[in-house]
Amino acid sequence: MIVIDGAAGEGGGQVLRTSLALAMVTGQPFRIERIRAGRRKPGLMRQHLTAVLAATQICGGTAIGAEPGSTTLEFTPGKVRGGDYRFAIGTAGSTILVLQTILLPLLQAGERSRLVLEGGTHNPHAPSFAFLERAFLPQLARMGAEVSVKLVRPGFYPAGGGRIEVEIAPLERLLPLHVPLRGALQRTHAEALVVNLPGSIGERELVVIANRLKWSAEDLKLRTDKQALGPGNVLTLFLEFATIIQVLVAFGEQGVSAEAVANRAAGVAARLLKVDAAIEPHLADQLLLPIALAGAGSFTTLALTSHAKTNIEVIRRFMDVSISAMENGEDLCAVHVAT
Ligand code: ATP
Repeated sequence: MIVIDGAAGEGGGQVLRTSLALAMVTGQPFRIERIRAGRRKPGLMRQHLTAVLAATQICGGTAIGAEPGSTTLEFTPGKVRGGDYRFAIGTAGSTILVLQTILLPLLQAGERSRLVLEGGTHNPHAPSFAFLERAFLPQLARMGAEVSVKLVRPGFYPAGGGRIEVEIAPLERLLPLHVPLRGALQRTHAEALVVNLPGSIGERELVVIANRLKWSAEDLKLRTDKQALGPGNVLTLFLEFATIIQVLVAFGEQGVSAEAVANRAAGVAARLLKVDAAIEPHLADQLLLPIALAGAGSFTTLALTSHAKTNIEVIRRFMDVSISAMENGEDLCAVHVAT
């Protein structure tokens, strides 16, 4: 049995999610020890537990140690079946990270799937709904995957209560993805989402973006949502290049001014606009798994993050795949995947 050290590298939840996805796709059982040892509260939190239960449900597998706080888990996958599934986290934990665990296995299931996921949809330290829809899925679509997503209700920490719906068409095999260049910058725009809070928060964020990045008024949008259960604010910047969209987010926090939130996002955008790398660092760690499953692919990104390095190590434990990363200074790294 494959034994994974959950404390290795990043030591976070992604080690578990990548292992679950790969176990289902390759049919190999695994045991993971020291789950999330690198985090302040180690072990399985609600989001991770929901991911484990979702995995066992879609493949009829077994999971020993699937309990809150558990630091060890033994997972034996069965055959993945598409269909209608609903997974509710029960807290504001990220629905999108649960989706990250089951999406690729369900793609290769042979039948169509319709998912309802409930919990957080806009979480710091996780892909937001906009990131999923505009950055991740378009690249997966270039690999042949037909996946549509709908935000029914946003969910922010701590209230949660968000809901997304996902439809996944079956696909025999993912196609290789090559993104050496991002191409010309075609459009930049920003959206401030403000729910159950004064709209002036979003307006102030957008003023910072207008002044600092010189984006014009028609490219700045304030959005609200009357359905959300609790308060929340997220500023999302979209850098649309010919081949990819870079999606950057900054979350409003109590005690942090709207200007500081917007300046954080503007700083990241200014840096990314200066470099030549095609793939933004978060997307880079998330694309490694589909590209490995496709058997080939390449892209340029900034220096590899510890999430990306850790993901590469986990992928190598389950698959005979060569992944090379050639760093050329701080701002450019060429990643090649081949079998
Ligand atoms: P923890 O170990 O605290 O439970 P986790 O389960 O949230 O963490 P991590 O191992 O930290 O998981 O992985 C977080 C995932 O969320 C990674 O795939 C990372 O790329 C993604 N992510 C984090 N921040 C962003 C962001 N701003 N935009 C897009 N994706 C993000």
